[in-house]
Amino acid sequence: MTADESAPASGVDSASAYARDPDADPFDRGVAEALDDDDPLAAYRDQFSIPDDELYFDGNSLGLQSTAAVESLDRVTEEWRELAIRGWEDGDPDWFHFAEHLADRVAPLVGAAPSEVTVANSTTTNVHTLIGTFLDTLPGTPGGPEPSAEAPAVLVDDLDFPTDHYAIRAQFRQRGIDPDEKLRTVASRDGRTIHPADVEAALDAHDDVGIVFLPSVLYRSGQLFDLERITAAAHEHDALAGFDLAHSVGVVPHDLAAHDVDFAVWCSYKYLNAGPGAVAGLYVADRHHGTTPALAGWWGNDKETQFEMRQTFDPADGAGAWQIGTIPMLSAAPVEGAAETIGEAGIDRVRAKSVALTDYLIALVDALPAEFTVGTPRDPTERGGHVAIEHPEGYRLSEALRDRGVVVDFRPPNVVRVCPSPLYTRFVDVLAVAEELRDLAASGAYETYDPRDGGVT
Ligand SMILES: *Cc1c(COP(=O)(O)O)cnc(C)c1O
Repeated sequence: MTADESAPASGVDSASAYARDPDADPFDRGVAEALDDDDPLAAYRDQFSIPDDELYFDGNSLGLQSTAAVESLDRVTEEWRELAIRGWEDGDPDWFHFAEHLADRVAPLVGAAPSEVTVANSTTTNVHTLIGTFLDTLPGTPGGPEPSAEAPAVLVDDLDFPTDHYAIRAQFRQRGIDPDEKLRTVASRDGRTIHPADVEAALDAHDDVGIVFLPSVLYRSGQLFDLERITAAAHEHDALAGFDLAHSVGVVPHDLAAHDVDFAVWCSYKYLNAGPGAVAGLYVADRHHGTTPALAGWWGNDKETQFEMRQTFDPADGAGAWQIGTIPMLSAAPVEGAAETIGEAGIDRVRAKSVALTDYLIALVDALPAEFTVGTPRDPTERGGHVAIEHPEGYRLSEALRDRGVVVDFRPPNVVRVCPSPLYTRFVDVLAVAEELRDLAASGAYETYDPRDGGVT
């Protein structure tokens, strides 16, 4: 396969640095060492704080701390100490325009113009404001352009991260629309993945769909959707296309503008490595600028008139209008350094390494006893940054792994999620996880752990 024959937007074509002999035993340490030796991103590991004596495979829940993120946070902390209120103007860069400063750094990661991106709020809040905003533009929404029409539906899938459904339901209820009727769910056939054809079939079957809202990557199985295909299908049915990119920003390149996506949200603390609860991001396509935000607030006002303190909202021209309140500087600051590190590494190179890491992990799982199976699509164009390893004893295995210093997480019913986050994970680390699993299965050591009874993993 040459680069021009197949150049998916996912950046998979630049994977040649990570060529691996498919016939070599993946458990041969030389295989992993050779991949690390040739890794053009190997040096980035030194820019992250790796917990001592741990193998960290949870970067899809909370990315590790980087030197650059701490530097930008330290700078703002110092500005706060020395400048206090003057930081809004005299910070460098000034805090008043800090969201715009961050948008310049994050926009290339999603393939959008900086004016189409803002860094604000939490992911869940951004689902609320954008779903609310776009419901209000659709016929059938009370108070909308054609209130007597049939109320619009939002098309989602039944494997989504739950917060998205909670927020969409709440937005329906606030408009007097019954969420049980209008939240339309595409069912998974296998409990792991969603067939894009089933999304298209749901659009064909129901002509009330006003918004298709799907994740880029399913949080459990790691399936990566084809955003261009889904957006095209939505538009053919006169619906808008919105995406939750929480599990892809920072590890999978996106082309939101070129793919005509209407809106998107994402978080900054997973593959973007900006720290726990770091300020989230959103994208609103240029053509929708000027639409009234559902959750208006003074921080979304036009910067020129914000401090005139008028009683009427004068929204900013671009995506900045969807900011709500004062930017939380201490959880926005690390986004600067974190995004710069990814920008410098190059999102296409990050993706190429991510694909190579997950590909290697899948080869290792295939060589484990048969109770271990891979729940993630094998086609790299359909795979995000983590691998779902399924095992009937997944919960007890994940607990045993943690006690051995291997940080993974468990998702019911039987999935151990293993995320080799590309900027700080080596191929020898991936090998070490598979060796631990092999050892636990052979010794039965996980059997001493209690079965699952809730809690955060
Ligand atoms: C992690 C994640 C979120 C998190 O939302 P918060 O508001 O940051 O808690 C939302 N959606 C998806 C798909 C996620 O993976």
